[in-house]
Amino acid sequence: MLTLEEALARLLSSIEPLGLTETRRTEQALGRILARDVVSLLDVPPADNTSMDGYALLAADVLQPGTLLPVAQRVPAGVVGARHQEGTAARIFTGAQIPLGADAVVMQEQCQASALPGGGLGMVQINTLPVSGQWIRRRGEDVAQGTVVLAAGARLDAAALGLAASVGAAELQLACRPKVALFSTGDELVMPGEPLRPGAIYNSNRFMLRGLLEGMGCEVIDLGIVPDQLEATRQALREAALQADLIITSGGVSVGEEDHLRPALQLEGRIDLWQIAIKPGKPLAFGEVRRADRSPAWFIGLPGNPVSSFVTFLLAVRPVILRLQGATRLAPRGFNLRADFDWPRPDRRQEFLRVRLNAAGGLDLFPNQSSGVLTSAVWGDGLLDNPGLQTIKAGQLVRFIPFSELLT
Ligand code: AMP
Ligand code: MG
Repeated sequence: MLTLEEALARLLSSIEPLGLTETRRTEQALGRILARDVVSLLDVPPADNTSMDGYALLAADVLQPGTLLPVAQRVPAGVVGARHQEGTAARIFTGAQIPLGADAVVMQEQCQASALPGGGLGMVQINTLPVSGQWIRRRGEDVAQGTVVLAAGARLDAAALGLAASVGAAELQLACRPKVALFSTGDELVMPGEPLRPGAIYNSNRFMLRGLLEGMGCEVIDLGIVPDQLEATRQALREAALQADLIITSGGVSVGEEDHLRPALQLEGRIDLWQIAIKPGKPLAFGEVRRADRSPAWFIGLPGNPVSSFVTFLLAVRPVILRLQGATRLAPRGFNLRADFDWPRPDRRQEFLRVRLNAAGGLDLFPNQSSGVLTSAVWGDGLLDNPGLQTIKAGQLVRFIPFSELLT
């Protein structure tokens, strides 16, 4: 048996990034992996500006609350005002540039404006003692010119797209989406919409794995169900390899005589069958299908049990898909949280229990941890990563990996 760590090291050292990149408009880059650093050519914000509606002034002009100042100008956002005159105030609105020479903003709630008989901008009474610098957002306080705001290998979430846009990046250089072929093996499988004949079950893995792949931004080539026959399996592998960088299957990787993936891959490329010391999980096949030009299409065969398939995908396939795109952060973060349950009979293998966050900040356990019970994965908020042979007592800190760390 391999530890998960050993299996991951083997997978990731075998697989090189695809190295294919494309340019896309920034708004179309959500969820993608960045292929080239985004460097800011400007300071953000580009100039000192106010974070409040109010009055810009020189703090030294207000020596006591109640000071009256003439309003010399009006500066809405998007307008650059005139140079500030000592002994005056400038009416100013959130986001507007601070007039050169002013050094503080007093929020309008602490001011009282009054009109002058002759018209004009009137006077303002400052009902507080301003401190130099208050309510001013400094030029470059978010991003200084020349900074790498997003590094190659980063995954682009919505906040990252906003940051790229804030430095003026209209286009981004991205890793191409990996093409992943998917098929399920098992003569017992039927598709939702078909009648459930005796002995059959619905093919849940196809939907689950396809969803996981699409959630990671892969281009999915869905080859459906492949019958438990050697020739059909070889045929499916060849077809998959023609189109895909990576082939993912579920089921048929045990060593039963109805498990045809091993002999098929031995004929079409190569395969290693691994026993990984994790629960759920355990059997995992890794190999490649050789294409006509001898280049490999990578192959990962997941176990058939739905929760095993789900967990193994998250732990072993997800990092591979990220690596194919040159992503830099492959490992999910774990957090120490309190278990609010006992786990008196742990397995010898590293366990990934489906748990849910409760309102008290602890973790509850789904009562049925069987590898066939997909309900546990829907109910849960993440996986409790429990080392082999470790019992858990309520109140103890455990390592929790939220699904948010595993699903993108
Ligand atoms: P296998 O790995 O092919 O021996 O399958 C292990 C278990 O997972 C068996 O109970 C299968 O019926 C079940 N299984 C295999 N593939 C699927 C699938 N696509 N959807 C739901 N269950 C499956
Ligand atoms: Mg099977």
